[in-house]
Order: sequence, then C-alpha cells, then structure tokens
Amino acid sequence: DEDPRIHGIKTKIRVVPNFPKPGIMFQDITTLLLDPKAFKDTIDLFVERYKGKNISVVAGIEARGFIFGPPIALAIGAKFVPLRKPKKLPGDVIFEEYTLEYGRDCLEMHVGAVQLGERALVVDDLIATGGTLCAAMNLLERVGAEVVECACLIELPDLQGRERLNGKPLYVLVEYQ
Ligand code: AMP
Repeated sequence: DEDPRIHGIKTKIRVVPNFPKPGIMFQDITTLLLDPKAFKDTIDLFVERYKGKNISVVAGIEARGFIFGPPIALAIGAKFVPLRKPKKLPGDVIFEEYTLEYGRDCLEMHVGAVQLGERALVVDDLIATGGTLCAAMNLLERVGAEVVECACLIELPDLQGRERLNGKPLYVLVEYQ
C-alpha cells in the first residue's frame, strides 16, 4: 500500500553516523537533491496531498525547509514564509524559543507575513523531538493562522516527537528506526 516512489526516496537519503556529534545518526538529504527523479517524487508526493486543500501559506523552517517548502508552495498556489533563526529577518518579528537536547534555540517570523484565518502548512526535512515544529506552529497560531498539518520527509519515531505536536497531524514520507 506504500507508494512505490517512497522506496526510491528512502534509498537516496544518506545516513551519517556520529555527525555533527557522537551518537547522532544524521539524515543527509543532500544526496536526495542530487537525484532529480527522487527530488521530484518527494515534491510531487507532498503536492498531491496538499493541492486543493485551500492552503494559503507554506511556512518553511530554516534551513532545509527552505529547500522543500518553496516548490510545494508554488505548485499548490500558496505563498511561502520563511521561519528563520534569530537576527536573519530585517523586519519586525515575533519569536518562539524552544529547548534542544543541549541548550535553546529560537525561530522568528516576520510580522504581517501571515494573516488571521490563513490555512498553513509547516514544512521541514525531519522531525526528531518535535520541538522545532512545535515552535513553528506556535508562531503561526499566535497570528491567528490555522495549521492544517506539518509535513516532513523523515521521522525519527523513537524520539516520540509526534507527542509534542498537541494532536496536530504530521505527515512523513519515511521513518528511520
Ligand atoms: P527536533 O526539534 O528535535 O524535532 O529537531 C528537528 C530539527 O533538527 C530539524 O530541523 C532537523 O533538520 C534537525 N535534525 C534533528 N535531528 C536530526 C538528524 N538525526 N538528522 C538530520 N537532521 C536532524
């Protein structure tokens, strides 16, 4: 029942043990980007899921959400809004801090980029603990947008990141055990 394109996508994701630090199995999507068929299949699968769903904004998380978000946004006729690390956006911003395994991080969004009542899709490459997606959803909900779903290429299910999404649906193409 799995879409036959998923297997091809899976084989193009390179797993790099102990990067960027010991114990982390880094999921490298740059190898997927080198394969035009697998890259296109990835975008197509998301577009097939979200076209006609009245999504007005795709919010992409820095940095790899900036690779997958824009082609999805263009294909479904939505605008693209970057959610960025601190001090990158020049205009007025709202921000959400969140905890990482070691320390804290923060995402910022331009004030005025998203309006009350908009239907949003959040895009990133991977969900681990879910902290990043949670912060992204909070930014959108604070300005009155409805987060329809979060979409990632890869889920690390052992880390139970889904549990941090407060019941918000999460769609992933590949699970890495
Ligand atoms: P989290 O907030 O814990 O869900 O972490 C998700 C964010 O960290 C995403 O933006 C990912 O790109 C990155 N990330 C976390 N773990 C990995 C991993 N094992 N491989 C690649 N990227 C990761």
